[in-house]
Amino acid sequence: MTHPDFDLAAAMGAFLRTRWLQLRLRSRADLEAYQAGRIGQWLSQAVPAVSFYRARGWRRLADLPVTDKAMLMACFDGFNRLGLTAEAGWAHFRAGTAPPGHHVGASTGTSGNRGLYVISARERAQWLGTMLAKTLPHFPFERARVAVILPQNAALYRQPGRGSLLSLRFFDLHEGFDGLPGRLAAYRPDTLVAPPKVLRFLAEEARLPSVRRLFSGAEVLDPMDRGVIEGRFGVTLGEIYMATEGLLATTCRHGRLHLAEDVMHFELEPGPAGSGLVSPVISDFSRSAQIMARYRLNDLLRLSSSPCSCGSPLQAVEEVVGRNDDVLSFPSVEGRRRIAITPDILRNSILNAAQGLGDFRCMQVSEDALVVLLPPGTEDATRRAVEYALLALFQRLGARVLLHIEEKDLPPPIAKLRRVSRAFEEPGR
Ligand SMILES: [Zn+2]
Repeated sequence: MTHPDFDLAAAMGAFLRTRWLQLRLRSRADLEAYQAGRIGQWLSQAVPAVSFYRARGWRRLADLPVTDKAMLMACFDGFNRLGLTAEAGWAHFRAGTAPPGHHVGASTGTSGNRGLYVISARERAQWLGTMLAKTLPHFPFERARVAVILPQNAALYRQPGRGSLLSLRFFDLHEGFDGLPGRLAAYRPDTLVAPPKVLRFLAEEARLPSVRRLFSGAEVLDPMDRGVIEGRFGVTLGEIYMATEGLLATTCRHGRLHLAEDVMHFELEPGPAGSGLVSPVISDFSRSAQIMARYRLNDLLRLSSSPCSCGSPLQAVEEVVGRNDDVLSFPSVEGRRRIAITPDILRNSILNAAQGLGDFRCMQVSEDALVVLLPPGTEDATRRAVEYALLALFQRLGARVLLHIEEKDLPPPIAKLRRVSRAFEEPGR
């Protein structure tokens, strides 16, 4: 009934624990007490089992140094329990193999900037069980046929059970988008999890799968894509904010994202000055094959200022805005300082000015120049509206920006879609 790689007991255990915690943790005090217990156990057992932390005797989370991808990759064997080196890990990844009972994966990204990770089969199953408990509110009281489309590592698991309450299938994007509608139609999912660019592609296809639940995952969801996707599928789009680093947040039944504070601890550092955004530093106390402790993510979030009406004590998030790398920076008008512009500000200025705009790209190409690409055939009035809105924004912020707008076929979304990006490395940044 089950694939030998799939640890069904671990998935069920995580599923039940997540549901139980939803009932038990009713306040921040409950949550913090629960986290303190889990973190204490993790710090005394799992963390000292890897060589980077062994013998250093750190007893409190706050004593551990903040880590990041560069540090982890420079000393990969120091952070995993197998002592697997980055070189051996990459060899496994390229060959599609892994040490027994484990899986080796890599994050998407430009070569040289990709992160490698190792996770045990048990932890993967737990990750899946937690995700299902958070996203399928009526399971196991109703059946679910879940299609998960991820950019890579599609062979994460095989279908856990045939004819059972839960059917799950992973679809691969390696073969491109073309065969996807046909393969999905043959599977007939009622729940679909996919990156927004894939959902948008499906939304614009004639053969749209009819689903009851829809989740975007793996990359930032722009409001412009949400509108198109929800309009065509006719269901509300939920979000699963995940990364190789784990399950970071999911949408609750009231439609708001909540940090997965029941499986990891978040420290929230302030983002660029004046932006009101935060950048998470995570400690994943539910994983031990590779230790992610005080690991600084490259993401920017806007937190909700009010608690969610669902009553969950898990911190609510208004929006995952983008990556720190995508924060643009221009000289001030008087030239004495630099002005940071976060991706959401640019995106909202463009979309508020040109509501019918189907797509765009914004790229900082030099110290003071921004190129905006609009789809071929964009009306003159739309183009002018975008130009006025951006010039007004730069004036309001006091930033000196050379703006260049052109029409161009927009690059197909093969890699991670980032509408606002920086192709220019600021010296000293
Ligand atoms: Zn909620």
